[in-house]
Amino acid sequence: MMDLHCHSTASDGVLTPTALVDRAAQLGIRLLSLTDHDTIEGLAEARRAAETLGVTLVNGIELSCTWGGVTIHVLGYGFQEQATALVEALDHLHSARWQRAELIGERLAAKGMSGAFEGARFIQQELGVSNNAPARPHFAEFLVQAGYVRDRNEAFRKWLGAGKLGDIKHHWPTLAQTVMTLKNAAAWISLAHPWQYALTGSKRRRLVADFVQSGGQALEVVNAWQPMEQIGVLARLTRDFNLLASAGSDFHAPGLWSELGLYRPLPEGVTPLWPYLEGYQQHHEPAFTDTSR
Ligand code: AMP
Ligand code: MN
Ligand code: MN
Ligand code: MN
Repeated sequence: MMDLHCHSTASDGVLTPTALVDRAAQLGIRLLSLTDHDTIEGLAEARRAAETLGVTLVNGIELSCTWGGVTIHVLGYGFQEQATALVEALDHLHSARWQRAELIGERLAAKGMSGAFEGARFIQQELGVSNNAPARPHFAEFLVQAGYVRDRNEAFRKWLGAGKLGDIKHHWPTLAQTVMTLKNAAAWISLAHPWQYALTGSKRRRLVADFVQSGGQALEVVNAWQPMEQIGVLARLTRDFNLLASAGSDFHAPGLWSELGLYRPLPEGVTPLWPYLEGYQQHHEPAFTDTSR
Protein backbone atom coordinates (compact mmCIF):
# COMPACT_ATOMS: atom_id res chain seq x y z
CA MET A 1 0.00 0.00 0.00
CA MET A 2 1.05 3.57 -0.55
CA ASP A 3 -0.21 7.10 -0.04
CA LEU A 4 1.09 10.17 -1.85
CA HIS A 5 -1.14 12.85 -0.34
CA CYS A 6 -1.62 13.59 3.37
CA HIS A 7 -1.26 16.34 5.96
CA SER A 8 0.25 16.68 9.44
CA THR A 9 0.12 19.34 12.16
CA ALA A 10 2.82 21.18 10.17
CA SER A 11 -0.16 22.36 8.08
CA ASP A 12 -3.84 21.52 8.65
CA GLY A 13 -3.73 17.85 9.69
CA VAL A 14 -4.47 16.68 13.23
CA LEU A 15 -1.63 14.14 13.63
CA THR A 16 1.98 15.11 14.26
CA PRO A 17 4.40 13.86 11.58
CA THR A 18 5.52 11.08 13.96
CA ALA A 19 1.95 9.98 14.74
CA LEU A 20 1.07 10.12 11.04
CA VAL A 21 3.97 7.89 9.94
CA ASP A 22 3.23 5.56 12.86
CA ARG A 23 -0.36 5.20 11.70
CA ALA A 24 0.76 4.66 8.10
CA ALA A 25 3.12 1.86 9.16
CA GLN A 26 0.37 0.19 11.21
CA LEU A 27 -1.96 0.31 8.22
CA GLY A 28 0.68 -1.38 6.05
CA ILE A 29 1.70 1.63 3.96
CA ARG A 30 5.21 1.14 2.55
CA LEU A 31 5.55 4.26 0.41
CA LEU A 32 4.40 7.53 1.92
CA SER A 33 4.66 11.18 0.96
CA LEU A 34 3.77 13.87 3.48
CA THR A 35 2.36 16.77 1.45
CA ASP A 36 1.70 19.62 3.85
CA HIS A 37 0.40 22.93 2.49
CA ASP A 38 3.25 25.31 1.57
CA THR A 39 5.69 23.88 4.11
CA ILE A 40 8.31 21.16 4.52
CA GLU A 41 8.50 21.75 8.27
CA GLY A 42 7.19 18.24 9.01
CA LEU A 43 9.52 16.30 6.72
CA ALA A 44 12.53 15.87 9.02
CA GLU A 45 10.42 14.48 11.85
CA ALA A 46 8.47 12.26 9.44
CA ARG A 47 11.71 10.91 8.00
CA ARG A 48 13.07 10.00 11.43
CA ALA A 49 9.87 8.06 12.18
CA ALA A 50 9.84 6.44 8.73
CA GLU A 51 13.42 5.19 9.09
CA THR A 52 12.68 3.32 12.32
CA LEU A 53 9.45 1.82 10.93
CA GLY A 54 10.65 0.70 7.51
CA VAL A 55 8.43 3.11 5.61
CA THR A 56 9.86 4.78 2.48
CA LEU A 57 9.19 8.49 2.82
CA VAL A 58 9.24 10.60 -0.33
CA ASN A 59 9.70 14.36 0.07
CA GLY A 60 6.35 16.00 -0.60
CA ILE A 61 4.54 19.34 -0.59
CA GLU A 62 1.20 20.78 -1.72
CA LEU A 63 1.75 24.33 -2.97
CA SER A 64 -0.97 27.00 -3.15
CA CYS A 65 -1.07 29.11 -6.30
CA THR A 66 -3.52 30.87 -8.61
CA TRP A 67 -4.61 30.35 -12.17
CA GLY A 68 -7.25 32.53 -13.83
CA GLY A 69 -8.39 33.92 -10.49
CA VAL A 70 -8.87 30.46 -8.93
CA THR A 71 -6.85 28.96 -6.06
CA ILE A 72 -5.07 25.83 -7.34
CA HIS A 73 -2.99 23.22 -5.48
CA VAL A 74 0.14 21.65 -6.99
CA LEU A 75 1.86 18.58 -5.53
CA GLY A 76 5.66 18.27 -5.62
CA TYR A 77 7.52 15.01 -4.94
CA GLY A 78 11.09 13.83 -4.45
CA PHE A 79 12.50 17.35 -4.63
CA GLN A 80 15.81 18.65 -3.32
CA GLU A 81 14.93 20.37 -0.05
CA GLN A 82 17.91 22.71 -0.25
CA ALA A 83 17.27 24.00 -3.77
CA THR A 84 17.53 27.80 -3.69
CA ALA A 85 14.35 28.35 -5.71
CA LEU A 86 12.32 26.20 -3.31
CA VAL A 87 13.84 27.67 -0.14
CA GLU A 88 13.06 31.18 -1.36
CA ALA A 89 9.52 30.31 -2.44
CA LEU A 90 8.79 28.67 0.91
CA ASP A 91 10.19 31.68 2.81
CA HIS A 92 7.83 33.87 0.87
CA LEU A 93 4.84 31.57 1.39
CA HIS A 94 5.58 31.34 5.11
CA SER A 95 5.19 35.09 5.66
CA ALA A 96 2.39 35.30 3.09
CA ARG A 97 0.37 32.76 5.06
CA TRP A 98 0.84 34.76 8.28
CA GLN A 99 -0.31 37.97 6.57
CA ARG A 100 -3.25 36.14 5.08
CA ALA A 101 -4.30 34.63 8.42
CA GLU A 102 -4.27 38.09 10.00
CA LEU A 103 -6.33 39.42 7.12
CA ILE A 104 -8.88 36.60 7.46
CA GLY A 105 -9.13 37.52 11.17
CA GLU A 106 -9.72 41.18 10.30
CA ARG A 107 -12.34 40.37 7.70
CA LEU A 108 -14.24 38.10 10.07
CA ALA A 109 -14.04 40.75 12.81
CA ALA A 110 -15.57 43.26 10.38
CA LYS A 111 -18.53 40.86 10.13
CA GLY A 112 -18.89 40.75 13.90
CA MET A 113 -16.82 37.61 14.55
CA SER A 114 -13.92 38.86 16.63
CA GLY A 115 -10.93 36.93 18.00
CA ALA A 116 -10.71 34.56 15.04
CA PHE A 117 -6.96 34.93 14.40
CA GLU A 118 -6.04 34.22 18.04
CA GLY A 119 -8.72 31.55 18.30
CA ALA A 120 -7.59 29.73 15.17
CA ARG A 121 -3.95 29.92 16.31
CA PHE A 122 -4.92 28.45 19.69
CA ILE A 123 -6.81 25.54 18.08
CA GLN A 124 -3.84 24.89 15.80
CA GLN A 125 -1.32 24.87 18.68
CA GLU A 126 -3.47 22.48 20.72
CA LEU A 127 -2.98 19.93 17.94
CA GLY A 128 0.78 20.34 17.64
CA VAL A 129 3.49 22.96 17.76
CA SER A 130 3.99 24.73 14.44
CA ASN A 131 5.70 27.93 13.28
CA ASN A 132 3.23 28.19 10.43
CA ALA A 133 0.17 30.38 10.33
CA PRO A 134 -3.23 28.87 11.13
CA ALA A 135 -5.00 27.61 8.00
CA ARG A 136 -8.63 27.87 6.94
CA PRO A 137 -9.65 24.62 8.69
CA HIS A 138 -8.40 26.12 12.00
CA PHE A 139 -10.54 29.19 11.34
CA ALA A 140 -13.48 26.91 10.53
CA GLU A 141 -13.07 25.11 13.84
CA PHE A 142 -12.90 28.45 15.66
CA LEU A 143 -16.16 29.59 14.03
CA VAL A 144 -17.83 26.35 15.15
CA GLN A 145 -16.52 26.56 18.72
CA ALA A 146 -17.48 30.24 19.01
CA GLY A 147 -21.00 29.36 17.89
CA TYR A 148 -20.98 31.46 14.71
CA VAL A 149 -21.76 28.42 12.54
CA ARG A 150 -23.19 24.95 13.17
CA ASP A 151 -20.38 22.94 11.61
CA ARG A 152 -17.24 23.24 9.49
CA ASN A 153 -19.19 22.78 6.26
CA GLU A 154 -21.23 25.83 7.09
CA ALA A 155 -18.04 27.73 7.99
CA PHE A 156 -16.66 27.05 4.51
CA ARG A 157 -19.97 27.59 2.75
CA LYS A 158 -20.60 30.96 4.40
CA TRP A 159 -17.17 32.43 5.15
CA LEU A 160 -14.09 30.48 4.12
CA GLY A 161 -14.79 28.55 0.90
CA ALA A 162 -14.03 29.50 -2.72
CA GLY A 163 -15.15 33.06 -3.45
CA LYS A 164 -15.96 33.85 0.21
CA LEU A 165 -14.17 36.40 2.40
CA GLY A 166 -11.66 33.85 3.74
CA ASP A 167 -10.60 32.73 0.25
CA ILE A 168 -7.78 35.28 0.01
CA LYS A 169 -5.57 34.45 -2.93
CA HIS A 170 -3.61 37.58 -3.68
CA HIS A 171 -0.69 36.21 -1.64
CA TRP A 172 -0.23 33.17 -3.87
CA PRO A 173 2.22 32.93 -6.78
CA THR A 174 0.90 31.92 -10.18
CA LEU A 175 0.62 28.33 -11.37
CA ALA A 176 3.48 28.86 -13.83
CA GLN A 177 5.77 30.29 -11.14
CA THR A 178 4.94 27.43 -8.80
CA VAL A 179 5.64 24.72 -11.37
CA MET A 180 8.93 26.47 -12.18
CA THR A 181 9.91 26.55 -8.51
CA LEU A 182 9.31 22.81 -8.25
CA LYS A 183 11.17 22.11 -11.50
CA ASN A 184 14.16 24.03 -10.16
CA ALA A 185 14.12 21.74 -7.13
CA ALA A 186 14.09 18.60 -9.32
CA ALA A 187 10.56 17.66 -8.24
CA TRP A 188 8.00 15.39 -9.85
CA ILE A 189 4.96 17.63 -10.26
CA SER A 190 1.29 16.61 -10.09
CA LEU A 191 -1.81 18.82 -10.32
CA ALA A 192 -3.76 18.14 -7.12
CA HIS A 193 -7.44 17.06 -7.24
CA PRO A 194 -8.28 18.66 -10.65
CA TRP A 195 -11.98 18.07 -10.00
CA GLN A 196 -12.14 20.17 -6.81
CA TYR A 197 -11.86 23.55 -8.49
CA ALA A 198 -14.97 25.44 -9.53
CA LEU A 199 -14.24 25.05 -13.25
CA THR A 200 -16.24 23.96 -16.27
CA GLY A 201 -14.98 20.98 -18.24
CA SER A 202 -13.42 23.14 -20.92
CA LYS A 203 -11.78 25.45 -18.40
CA ARG A 204 -10.39 22.42 -16.55
CA ARG A 205 -8.90 21.23 -19.83
CA ARG A 206 -7.28 24.64 -20.31
CA LEU A 207 -5.88 24.48 -16.76
CA VAL A 208 -4.30 21.13 -17.57
CA ALA A 209 -2.93 22.47 -20.88
CA ASP A 210 -1.31 25.43 -19.08
CA PHE A 211 0.02 23.13 -16.36
CA VAL A 212 1.66 20.94 -19.02
CA GLN A 213 2.99 24.00 -20.84
CA SER A 214 4.63 25.15 -17.58
CA GLY A 215 6.30 21.75 -17.09
CA GLY A 216 3.80 19.74 -15.02
CA GLN A 217 4.11 15.97 -15.39
CA ALA A 218 1.16 14.28 -13.66
CA LEU A 219 -2.49 14.62 -12.65
CA GLU A 220 -3.87 13.45 -9.34
CA VAL A 221 -6.42 11.18 -10.99
CA VAL A 222 -7.63 9.78 -7.68
CA ASN A 223 -8.17 11.89 -4.55
CA ALA A 224 -9.66 9.99 -1.62
CA TRP A 225 -13.01 8.25 -2.25
CA GLN A 226 -13.99 10.37 -5.21
CA PRO A 227 -16.81 9.39 -7.61
CA MET A 228 -15.88 6.97 -10.43
CA GLU A 229 -17.26 9.26 -13.16
CA GLN A 230 -14.81 11.99 -12.16
CA ILE A 231 -11.92 9.53 -12.14
CA GLY A 232 -12.87 8.47 -15.68
CA VAL A 233 -12.77 12.05 -16.94
CA LEU A 234 -9.43 12.71 -15.23
CA ALA A 235 -7.96 9.47 -16.62
CA ARG A 236 -8.94 10.58 -20.12
CA LEU A 237 -7.31 13.99 -19.56
CA THR A 238 -4.16 12.22 -18.36
CA ARG A 239 -4.03 10.16 -21.56
CA ASP A 240 -4.87 13.09 -23.83
CA PHE A 241 -1.99 15.14 -22.43
CA ASN A 242 0.39 12.18 -22.08
CA LEU A 243 0.76 12.69 -18.33
CA LEU A 244 1.52 10.38 -15.42
CA ALA A 245 -1.17 9.65 -12.82
CA SER A 246 -0.94 10.04 -9.05
CA ALA A 247 -3.31 9.03 -6.27
CA GLY A 248 -3.68 9.71 -2.57
CA SER A 249 -6.06 9.94 0.37
CA ASP A 250 -5.60 13.68 1.14
CA PHE A 251 -5.80 12.51 4.75
CA HIS A 252 -6.17 15.27 7.38
CA ALA A 253 -7.80 13.46 10.32
CA PRO A 254 -9.13 9.99 11.09
CA GLY A 255 -12.82 9.76 10.20
CA LEU A 256 -15.52 7.63 8.66
CA TRP A 257 -14.34 8.20 5.07
CA SER A 258 -10.94 9.59 5.88
CA GLU A 259 -7.96 7.33 6.42
CA LEU A 260 -4.40 6.96 5.22
CA GLY A 261 -4.32 4.70 2.17
CA LEU A 262 -8.07 5.14 1.65
CA TYR A 263 -8.71 6.12 -1.96
CA ARG A 264 -10.09 4.43 -5.04
CA PRO A 265 -7.64 2.41 -7.13
CA LEU A 266 -6.06 4.06 -10.17
CA PRO A 267 -8.05 3.12 -13.28
CA GLU A 268 -6.65 0.96 -16.09
CA GLY A 269 -4.88 2.66 -18.94
CA VAL A 270 -2.97 5.34 -17.03
CA THR A 271 0.74 5.30 -16.15
CA PRO A 272 1.31 5.66 -12.41
CA LEU A 273 3.77 8.23 -11.07
CA TRP A 274 4.87 6.27 -7.99
CA PRO A 275 7.50 3.97 -9.60
CA TYR A 276 9.46 7.10 -10.55
CA LEU A 277 9.42 8.25 -6.94
CA GLU A 278 10.72 4.93 -5.67
CA GLY A 279 13.38 5.08 -8.35
CA TYR A 280 14.31 8.53 -7.14
CA GLN A 281 14.70 7.26 -3.60
CA GLN A 282 16.88 4.34 -4.65
CA HIS A 283 19.21 6.09 -7.06
CA HIS A 284 19.16 9.65 -5.74
CA GLU A 285 19.33 10.82 -9.32
CA PRO A 286 17.58 14.16 -9.78
CA ALA A 287 15.19 14.19 -12.69
CA PHE A 288 16.31 17.72 -13.57
CA THR A 289 19.28 19.86 -12.74
CA ASP A 290 18.92 22.83 -10.43
CA THR A 291 19.07 25.80 -12.75
CA SER A 292 18.41 28.25 -9.93
CA ARG A 293 21.98 28.28 -8.63
P1 AMP B 1 -5.65 26.96 3.31
O1 AMP B 1 -4.41 26.16 3.07
O2 AMP B 1 -5.56 27.81 4.53
O3 AMP B 1 -6.06 27.71 2.08
O4 AMP B 1 -6.81 25.92 3.62
C1 AMP B 1 -7.22 25.04 2.61
C2 AMP B 1 -7.72 23.74 3.23
O5 AMP B 1 -9.02 23.93 3.76
C3 AMP B 1 -7.87 22.62 2.23
O6 AMP B 1 -6.66 21.98 2.02
C4 AMP B 1 -8.86 21.74 2.93
O7 AMP B 1 -8.19 20.97 3.91
C5 AMP B 1 -9.76 22.73 3.62
N1 AMP B 1 -10.97 23.05 2.84
C6 AMP B 1 -11.05 23.84 1.73
N2 AMP B 1 -12.31 23.94 1.30
C7 AMP B 1 -13.07 23.22 2.15
C8 AMP B 1 -14.45 22.94 2.25
N3 AMP B 1 -15.34 23.44 1.36
N4 AMP B 1 -14.87 22.16 3.26
C9 AMP B 1 -13.99 21.66 4.15
N5 AMP B 1 -12.66 21.87 4.11
C10 AMP B 1 -12.20 22.65 3.12
MN1 MN C 1 -5.88 20.91 3.76
MN1 MN D 1 -5.64 20.53 -1.75
MN1 MN E 1 -4.22 18.15 0.47
